[in-house]
Amino acid sequence: MNVVEIFNSIDGEGRRQGQLTTFLRLHDCNIRCSYCDTTYSYGPDSDYDTMTVEEVVNRIEAFKNHRITITGGEPLLQEYDVIDLVDTLYERNCYYDINIETNGTIVPSFYRPYVWFTYDYKMPSSLAEEYMDLGIFKVATEADLIKFVVSSENDLDRMHQILADNPTKGQIYVSPVWGAIEGATIVEYMIKHNLQDVRLQLQIHKFIWDPNAKGV
Ligand code: SF4
Repeated sequence: MNVVEIFNSIDGEGRRQGQLTTFLRLHDCNIRCSYCDTTYSYGPDSDYDTMTVEEVVNRIEAFKNHRITITGGEPLLQEYDVIDLVDTLYERNCYYDINIETNGTIVPSFYRPYVWFTYDYKMPSSLAEEYMDLGIFKVATEADLIKFVVSSENDLDRMHQILADNPTKGQIYVSPVWGAIEGATIVEYMIKHNLQDVRLQLQIHKFIWDPNAKGV
């Protein structure tokens, strides 16, 4: 596996927000979002180690944390190894709760009861929406999250339209691109359009540390 970093922190967003989580960041990404805060995870100049699945499992286990987030870059570019990793973790200890943060371009080819997905559907302002696979709305289960990161009312309109056109069992989250749109604007939009199934989230790591720091 090509690994950028493995570290312990709190989950900054999603349904485990604020809870201790071990992060595994895998190398490379298949798109280039306009607002990317993890540019160091891809490209020829990025720094990464090639490790065996066994070595990655050992590093993760040392943190003694049952919440794991596998992120990137785009982790499903290494899907074969990711499947091996989650199965090995679970065989070692069935207490693991594993979130895979994926960018919405790839429909996963596997299902495991101890794995759930956060699909980050890219909005027009990302300049990457053309690469999204709408199949993610069909495969998402009640355990999965579909996240919209918005910069503008135009993005909110697009989110509204996508949700109307693509019924899903996934939980819907919306969050602002830091500094681009006010949380209050999103709330006003949710009220105006009565978005009962949408939950606003603010990335708390941006409040705790440097807002321009790398994402978790
Ligand atoms: S998918 Fe994530 S890592 Fe890839 S360019 Fe977009 S924000 Fe950056």
